Amino acid sequence: MDAKIAVLPGDGVGPEVTAEARKVLEAIAQARGHRFSFETALVGGAAIDEAGTALPEATLELCKASDAVLFGAVGGPKWDDPKARVRPEQGLLGLRKGLGLFANLRPVKLNPALVDASTIKADVLAGTDLLFVRELTGGIYFGQRGRDAGGKEAFDTMVYSEPEITRVVRFAFNLARGRRRKVTSVDKANVLECSRLWRETAMRIAAEYPDVTYENMLVDACAMHLIRRPSTFDVIVTENMFGDILTDEASMLTGSLGLLPSASLAEGNLGLYEPIHGSAPDIAGQGIANPLGTILSAALLLRHSLKLDQEAQAIEKAVDKALAEGYRTRDIEQPGTKVLGTQEMGDLIVRYITTA
Ligand code: NAD
Repeated sequence: MDAKIAVLPGDGVGPEVTAEARKVLEAIAQARGHRFSFETALVGGAAIDEAGTALPEATLELCKASDAVLFGAVGGPKWDDPKARVRPEQGLLGLRKGLGLFANLRPVKLNPALVDASTIKADVLAGTDLLFVRELTGGIYFGQRGRDAGGKEAFDTMVYSEPEITRVVRFAFNLARGRRRKVTSVDKANVLECSRLWRETAMRIAAEYPDVTYENMLVDACAMHLIRRPSTFDVIVTENMFGDILTDEASMLTGSLGLLPSASLAEGNLGLYEPIHGSAPDIAGQGIANPLGTILSAALLLRHSLKLDQEAQAIEKAVDKALAEGYRTRDIEQPGTKVLGTQEMGDLIVRYITTA
């Protein structure tokens, strides 16, 4: 197939890790007879330096005209003043809004080769393979906020509409049908009115999917069960702020920030794919960043935007093989493993794909 992929490297290690993911996508295209074209654009701090804004119009237009977006990371000490009018993360927020990216997907799957890298006991982690679906464009992060005249009282507003909830919950149920057919909807329905609407809506949608097991869970209970019995979850769907917090908690199950991918999807097939980590300014430019989170994000790009599931699996298998054979980047180094740099790890994944 032909596909147009926008690449937004961003700041810090962003350019290093997206270069490796692009290399892997090029290798897959060549191995499987597809034609992917890549166009790079500015975002984040790099865009502020060049164009005075974190999301230049040309970048948004390129993304809208592409089949998918591969994103690195934005931010760094150079642009860190919280009071600055232009800030790198406006690039990502602007893309979410401008592209209508309403669902954020974060798979958390335990890799058996890395079971000892987690702070959680191996027997608790065994079999963990869950998928978070976080609502991304509504809730308290987008509601009205302010301070009183004296500045000593502040408020933020959480608003959700039924169509917003329906869209993301239905999306979660559809994904569950391709997995182990279980959905956990997380809310705080004992306290929040938005959560009561969320639960009513989720229960109504659940009735349309009799083949999928459904449960509600309060967010505080979910925080606990995630580290007590993570393997019992399949798809977890929740609102924006709860999802923000719980996905960070869940990412620690696998023990490494550098390894986890994410996808942010719009209606239709357009999506933005990025590792969950930030721009890691402490290691930027040293050639030691772990590119696997971005490479696995490229696999999600193939699966969700281009509908190339076999190609996605080929990347995931190549990453599993590298880890099983003891190859690591420095952040996930363990005794007896072989440490590779960013490019060497990318080259290894390409080699596994082209010789598979
Ligand atoms: P971070 O994820 O950048 O780094 C946290 C720690 O993990 C650092 O020690 C870093 O070296 C390490 N790390 C992260 N990614 C790694 C990788 N691929 N390989 C090896 N080690 C890796 O988080 P932070 O330090 O809190 O934030 C740094 C900057 O990134 C800030 O400006 C922040 O705003 C930004 N940030 C951006 C995003 C994004 O673009 N989506 C997300 C989070 C943070």
